[in-house]
Amino acid sequence: FLSHSLQAKMSRPVQARRLEGIDKNIWVEFVKLAATYSKVNLGQGFPDFPAPGFLTEALTRALGGGNHMLHQYTRAFGHPPLVKVIAQFFEKLLGRDLDPMTNVMVTVGAYQALFCCFQAFVDEGDEVIIIEPFFDCYEAMVKMAGGTPVFVPLRPNPPKDGKLMSSADWQLDPAELASKFSERTKAIVLNSPNNPLGKVFSRGELGLIAELCVKHDVLCISDEVYEWLVYDGKQHIRIASLQGMWDRTVIIGSAGKTFSATGWKVGWAVGPDRLLQHLRTVHQNSVYHCATIAQEAVAQGFQRELTLYGKPESYFVQLPKELQQKRDWLVRSLDDVGMKPIIPEGTYFVVADISQFKSDVPDVPNSDEPYDCRFAKWMVKNKGLAAIPLSAFYSEAHKNNYPNFIRFCFAKEEATLKAANDILQKWKQEKS
Ligand code: PMP
Repeated sequence: FLSHSLQAKMSRPVQARRLEGIDKNIWVEFVKLAATYSKVNLGQGFPDFPAPGFLTEALTRALGGGNHMLHQYTRAFGHPPLVKVIAQFFEKLLGRDLDPMTNVMVTVGAYQALFCCFQAFVDEGDEVIIIEPFFDCYEAMVKMAGGTPVFVPLRPNPPKDGKLMSSADWQLDPAELASKFSERTKAIVLNSPNNPLGKVFSRGELGLIAELCVKHDVLCISDEVYEWLVYDGKQHIRIASLQGMWDRTVIIGSAGKTFSATGWKVGWAVGPDRLLQHLRTVHQNSVYHCATIAQEAVAQGFQRELTLYGKPESYFVQLPKELQQKRDWLVRSLDDVGMKPIIPEGTYFVVADISQFKSDVPDVPNSDEPYDCRFAKWMVKNKGLAAIPLSAFYSEAHKNNYPNFIRFCFAKEEATLKAANDILQKWKQEKS
């Protein structure tokens, strides 16, 4: 008995080396804090309004329509009706012919499409350029693949006229960007519209990135999950449509963001077969398959959008219109209390400057924790308002670079945004 129990107790390290440094995640902490303390949750990025009726009805039809095969496995690389309609849709957007079977792959959310890319393309020692601030999983996924993330920042140029900053005021320094490319660079991750800033990269900025990708023979992993969420008549430009880029770009999208149904976890990758064939290898040997019934309903949602493309009834036209109004409400609320917002050109996030509220939340000198983290924790515990610190979108080395910003999500019901406004107004009064 004794020798058996000794054998049963493991003493060897269990964690694979590739998980070192990525085993702690700020989202786990902040999602839990929001669940425990928040009265108003503008933290994590998901809508609290319903998904569109045409989408939920499509799901109900799929469930009750008598096709019992929708409860079984479908094609591993994407349910045929879904890959077909995504191919048709992107043919329109990109102006090129696409083969649904080889140019499109369906994934478990955009997250899995990203994971497939890094696993498929990044070798030990390869460098991957990531533009800061960034959606945090890019760094961890590069590291898990054995690669080295190389960061290049968007730098703020505050407007001199006293106006509010725009996400467009955060820019890459062309020389600095160029200096990050070398023969070790395998890929660059582009996220436009960008989470967390809401920056929509201009044609000039994309042209610069494209030129460097072509010059150094680098791949582009283009996370476009917020492709429809652009405001003020701005246009989302797909880098894959720029000269020399189709062949080296994987476009990543998300039904969660596109159809306001983040819990469905349906995403996709679109690109040339020579790249997607390797994503298929990773997919085949990891997740293998996504929920058939959700794919069926998303296919019908896309079919509707294809028919209504560019028309006022289109959800891809209506959603940004509604969100722009919500953006404007939250921007006004924040500006009014002196929590200066950076006006986003896209996404459903606003980053705001907390400098004027710092007196309520004392800094702890020499702490390793970035100030914005402490502020966001204090705010949710004491005011019941949840947001995410901007430092969550920076690498460890740069997490103290911008300590005075937090990110709010405005994909919320009017009542939620009003409740946030009430908290901010009350706080402002208590302050003065
Ligand atoms: N990329 C970005 C930039 C995101 O913000 C998100 C979701 N927050 C994702 C990818 C993941 O999308 P999905 O839920 O479809 O996996």
